[in-house]
Order: sequence, then structure tokens, then C-alpha cells
Amino acid sequence: MMTSDAQQFASDNYSGICPEAFSAMEAANRGHAAAYGEDVWTARAADSLRRLFETPCEVFFAFNGTAANSLALASLCQSYHSVICADAAHVETDECGAPEFFSNGSKLLTVRTQSGKLDPAAIRATATARSDIHFPKCRVVTITQPTETGQVYSLDEIRAIAATCRVLGLSLHMDGSRFANACASLGCSPADMTWRAGVDVLCFGGTKNGMHAGEAVLFFDPSLAVDFGYRCKQAGQLASKMRFLAAPWVGMLEGGAWLSNAEHANACARDFAEAVAGLPGIEPIFPVEANAVFLRMPPAAMEALRERGWRFYTFIGGGARFMFGWDALPERVAELVRDLHEIGAPRAA
Ligand SMILES: *Cc1c(COP(=O)(O)O)cnc(C)c1O
Repeated sequence: MMTSDAQQFASDNYSGICPEAFSAMEAANRGHAAAYGEDVWTARAADSLRRLFETPCEVFFAFNGTAANSLALASLCQSYHSVICADAAHVETDECGAPEFFSNGSKLLTVRTQSGKLDPAAIRATATARSDIHFPKCRVVTITQPTETGQVYSLDEIRAIAATCRVLGLSLHMDGSRFANACASLGCSPADMTWRAGVDVLCFGGTKNGMHAGEAVLFFDPSLAVDFGYRCKQAGQLASKMRFLAAPWVGMLEGGAWLSNAEHANACARDFAEAVAGLPGIEPIFPVEANAVFLRMPPAAMEALRERGWRFYTFIGGGARFMFGWDALPERVAELVRDLHEIGAPRAA
């Protein structure tokens, strides 16, 4: 019989489905329901999101973040437009050109950043560098909250970016694949983090938050959502048994698991970072503000960690990335800490 592997912190999507999402799917599985989103679960999930965000936004459900981001960006652009993003943005580095594909060619304009965060000056410089007919016209800014390296934009930073966008005639999209972790980190409301700060469209990640799959796309300006349903369908993102994409949101939102899951993940990251701080040869690369910890360490230490069975990615900046999910086990975190202590300060033979 197959047994599941010991818990790893390579990514937060190594985790399973949280009980709240699972039991809602189980409830949705009793009997039949109308297909393609005409069911009560889909209506209830959209209403739960509107309640959480305190606004009558337009809500759509997609299978994954790549589709949600790409289709949302495509809805904000014509093919001759461009999208400003950070160089480390998932849309640029990890979506295989899907934003360009689904927008029929809207170009991503990357901004070189230290932290993966955009700022008003960089947006302005990029958006105003060219205005001639030979260059794709800037139309959208996309920010990742929290960033791919685990930094969180403050509300003031989002507001400043949004104000710059308004002056320059740009829409503001937020890739919130770990949106809950950002809310937990700042302790602010989803409304304050998004539409009240000037965000036009949010992709709210359910997968990394504890669901089996699924991201919600929220349009705070309903005029931007016109025909978005057709876009989803054409892209293969209209779920036939939609209730199974919708029900987990009901389970996650109505009991508050979306937030407690993220709080737990963030706390594990913080505890882990504190427990390895000061170890010889090991240093944090980025401030720990959400559920990611990036550690710079000698190649030999990485190899030693891998020999002890740990899995982690080194694709950003060469450091080791550890991501903590809703289900991170404190005793497993402690094992990783212990191994790092032993590797970092080997006992004399
Ligand atoms: C995980 C992730 C996504 C979504 O990825 P999918 O694999 O397409 O679901 C989007 N943005 C960021 C920053 C991510 O980390």
C-alpha cells in the first residue's frame, strides 16, 4: 500500500484539502445540482465572497491561478496593450506565457526589483518611457500580494500604486494566490486590501489556502467583468460540475478557515525563521512577512539537508525556499530546525 510522504515545506501546495473545504464538498456531493454554475453552492459562494469583501462585486471561479490571472489580465487589455509587472512576478516567470496567450499578445513589461514589489516611481517610469505608436500602450499594472518572495505590500503602498495608476489611466490587478496570508499578516480586511485601496480586479487563491483547487476572480468594477464568463468558457475554465469549485469557498469563508489557515501558515514561517536566525552560514534573504522563508546557505548545507530527505526549491535567488501551508505540523517544523542546527554547526566527530 502507498503511504503518504512525510510533510515537506517545499511548497504550500504540497498540502492536502482542509477539513472545512472537504466537508463542504461532501455536502455538495449529496444528490444532484444544476451544472455550469446555475446551482445554489455557486450562488452561496459568490455571496460569501461579496459579504467578506463588503461589496457587490462580480465573482467568477477558475480552476487555477494561471488561468485566473491570465484571463483577468486579458479582460483589462487589448492585444496592443501592455501590462507592467515585477520581474519576479508569477505571471512573468511561471505561467508559460499564458497572460500573453489569452490576451492575444498583450506584452508584459517587467520592472527590475529587489523585493518583487513595484512602486509608483517604477510604474510611472515604465508607463511613460514610450508613448509612440511603435510600442504597446501601457494599460494595466499587476502586483502580487504577498509577493513571490513573501513580502507584503502595506495598505499605503497599495493606495499609492493605485493613485499612480489612476493618474496614468492604468487598471490595477492583484495576484492574490496567497491573498489570505497577506490579510493575516496585516490584520486588515479584504476590502481595505483591495477595492478600498484602489484595486480593480483580484485573483483570490483558494488552492494554497486549503482547497483542492480553485481561484476566485473578483471584479470590483462590474463594467470590467462584461463577457468575462465567455472568456472563461472559451479558455476551458467553466466547470461543468461548478458546485465542486464553489462549495469549498463556502466551507472556507463561512467558518473563517480562510483566515485561520493563513494565520497558522504565517506563524509557522515566523517561528521557523526565528529558530534558525543566527545559525552560522545561514541567513535570511527576505524579511518574513507571510508564509515563505528564503535562506541563503552554503551548497554543502543544502546538499546535507537534501540527504536528510528534505525537499525545497532554489529557483529564486539561489537560496532555499521553505513555504508553510495551512497544515504545517509544528513538530515537523521542529525537525527541520533541528536538522539545520546539526548541519550548520556539526558536532565534532
Ligand atoms: C501558485 C501561484 C499562482 C497560481 O499558480 P497555479 O499553479 O496556476 O494555480 C499564481 N501566482 C502566484 C504568485 C503563485 O505563487
